[in-house]
Amino acid sequence: MRIYLDHNATTPLRPQVVDAMTSVLREDYGNPSSVYAEGAAARERIELARQQLAALLGTKAERVRFTGGATESNNTVLFGLLAPGDHVVATEIEHPSVLEPLSELEARGVVVSRVPPDASGCVSASSIEDAMRADTKLVSMIWANNETGSIQPVEAVGELCNERAIAFHVDATQAIGKVEVDLGRVAIDYVSSSAHKLGGPKGVGALVCQEGAKLPVLLYGGGQERGLRGGTENVAGIAGFGVACELASESGALHREACGKLRDRLWQNLEARVGEVRWNGDPARTLANTLNVEFQGAAGEVLVQALDLEGVAVSAGAACHSGSIDPSKVLLAMGRSPEEARSSLRFSVGWGVDEAQIDTVVALLCELVPRARKVEAP
Ligand code: PMP
Repeated sequence: MRIYLDHNATTPLRPQVVDAMTSVLREDYGNPSSVYAEGAAARERIELARQQLAALLGTKAERVRFTGGATESNNTVLFGLLAPGDHVVATEIEHPSVLEPLSELEARGVVVSRVPPDASGCVSASSIEDAMRADTKLVSMIWANNETGSIQPVEAVGELCNERAIAFHVDATQAIGKVEVDLGRVAIDYVSSSAHKLGGPKGVGALVCQEGAKLPVLLYGGGQERGLRGGTENVAGIAGFGVACELASESGALHREACGKLRDRLWQNLEARVGEVRWNGDPARTLANTLNVEFQGAAGEVLVQALDLEGVAVSAGAACHSGSIDPSKVLLAMGRSPEEARSSLRFSVGWGVDEAQIDTVVALLCELVPRARKVEAP
């Protein structure tokens, strides 16, 4: 049996999600826009999922628009709201689905301010405030970073935006299900999310647009999702997303506690038994399921491959482009050297991971890290 410690990349589907999706695929195959009974049945599945997601996020169902994932939600907000000459503030540790649209928009004449994190991977609200201008149109901020799990001060930034009537977009993809996300308590205009990070399927997500926020549109077509997103809905995926949200609402806090224990067990054992390790982040401001750790002097990609051969999936936190390993931009932004970044691995736990698996991984790393320290990084 393989050990899967890459839950920030994607999560295995929860069995109840598979059941819900299967029943849609088998029975509720109607087009949700059709007026007859099959259409109504499919529509019902979507509306139930809308309520399930809204309940998890503490918002109203009518605020939720389903999309093809968080990448689409992020693109919808950025391309839908920003025009040449507009000013936008974002952080340097956004996901590529925010960073790349911003680069493209910059080439079209949008003015972008990118705010760096501190050494622990957190961006302060005051540095966001310093980057705001009188004409700032939008602030876009990741709630929790996918590579380090660092949690950003979205509440404080939300207040700053509110005071200045600046639109606020938050990519909450990694936060939902892992920290409490209560949109009744934090002032956010646009929230992006993705089903496959919390036990749901890939290729479905949502954009929550709060009351009064201008509705951005990326896909024009048949007017689905109240005009936000043309295209026949992914009914099975949306139903699966809804069930994943319901499960997160029911047992999210317990799940977070269990994840925190597993993650801490991993860290304590790595520190005690492997040695010369550094946590890339501030434990007090990190998702309970995530540990990004530097194994000083070891080649991270060698470790990823060696662990894979032993049946363990983890991520190097580095993107591999045409054979060359780029050090993680997030770790570089935190002030790590390229060598330090290349020596870092991301472990992220979730449903199905247990203590015995953590102990197996620690035992493997006790053997593999000293070997990887002898290997010259390419
Ligand atoms: N934002 C963050 C923070 C993510 O971690 C991811 C997935 N890696 C995305 C956006 C993109 O989500 P999707 O795969 O649904 O497009």
